[in-house]
Amino acid sequence: MNDTTGLETRVREAKETLGDSLVILGHHYQRDDVIQFADFRGDSLKLARDAAGCQDAKYIVFCGVHFMAETADILSQPEQAVLLPDLEAGCSLAEMASLSDVEEAWAQLGVVMDVESEVMPITYVNSLAALKAFCGQHGGSVCTSSNAAKVLAWAFERRPRVLFFPDQHLGRNTAKKMGIPLGEMVLWNPSRPLGGNDAEALKRARVFLWRGFCNVHQRFLPGHVTAWRERDPEIRVIVHPECEMAVVDLADEAGSTAYIVKRVEESPPGTRWAIGTEANLVNRLKQEHPEQFIDHLSPEPSYCRTMNLITPEKLARVLDGLVVGRIINRITVPNDVARDARVALERMLEAS
Ligand code: SF4
Repeated sequence: MNDTTGLETRVREAKETLGDSLVILGHHYQRDDVIQFADFRGDSLKLARDAAGCQDAKYIVFCGVHFMAETADILSQPEQAVLLPDLEAGCSLAEMASLSDVEEAWAQLGVVMDVESEVMPITYVNSLAALKAFCGQHGGSVCTSSNAAKVLAWAFERRPRVLFFPDQHLGRNTAKKMGIPLGEMVLWNPSRPLGGNDAEALKRARVFLWRGFCNVHQRFLPGHVTAWRERDPEIRVIVHPECEMAVVDLADEAGSTAYIVKRVEESPPGTRWAIGTEANLVNRLKQEHPEQFIDHLSPEPSYCRTMNLITPEKLARVLDGLVVGRIINRITVPNDVARDARVALERMLEAS
């Protein structure tokens, strides 16, 4: 038996032993040799719902990154344990906004306007639990790339302005699509006073965009779209809204991971796609749809380094521990943070 087969057998046997007490959630960006073990697979929104729904399982093993496991812990029952096979699997985008920086931004905006009545804080789900709690405390909500437009619409029904963190591109692309002019959006640089703006510009703005980005999606460039079009006039370019605005504007379509999967699944044989999102998902779509032509938008496939830290070996280690009653790599959000973050997450689930 080679190593790969041995590991697969170990994981399958542990799953069988643990039975209904275990649920494995897997994000679309996971490697094939990991996602094959997921009981539920999906994007952040679907997995947040799955985590809230699997109330009978004692253990939820999250094959994804840290903020996703935190969200699962917040939405699961207190007696359920959420485990992440590698504690180093973080998200560089989520780490671009700290609680102290967001509190400071809130205080600085508060000098220019009445924040509690005028500004709705919205955090992308790719963020620390403490920021979701901040939104919960200040009337705000969470969004994913699947429901960002619905959540922003919800926010604007309640307050005239939005502070959106940490991903500037998702915020800008979504607000633009909703008809908000670029002139009414400002970038908030947390290392500069008033985010690098003057008070008048802040008063004119309806959207304050935190200066964060996903380095996996920011690698896609407008030149990649034009190069494909020159090579292949039949190509349809579809990208994730974490890509910069110039790329989204040039693409034929933009949407969340779930949207991209759905569009490919429902397209007729012969459709030709260049896809601008994480490479594991593009490779999988390519394998699952040989009747279509599917390729990466950029010449070099763009992988998420931290998603790829989850391996069958690390999954097997966590499951072997559970079989002997040992919980390793548990993700626990402190009760007070979880309580406020849950308020914001529930607002999101209701709005979407
Ligand atoms: S793809 Fe980007 S946003 Fe998603 S986990 Fe990786 S770094 Fe974070």
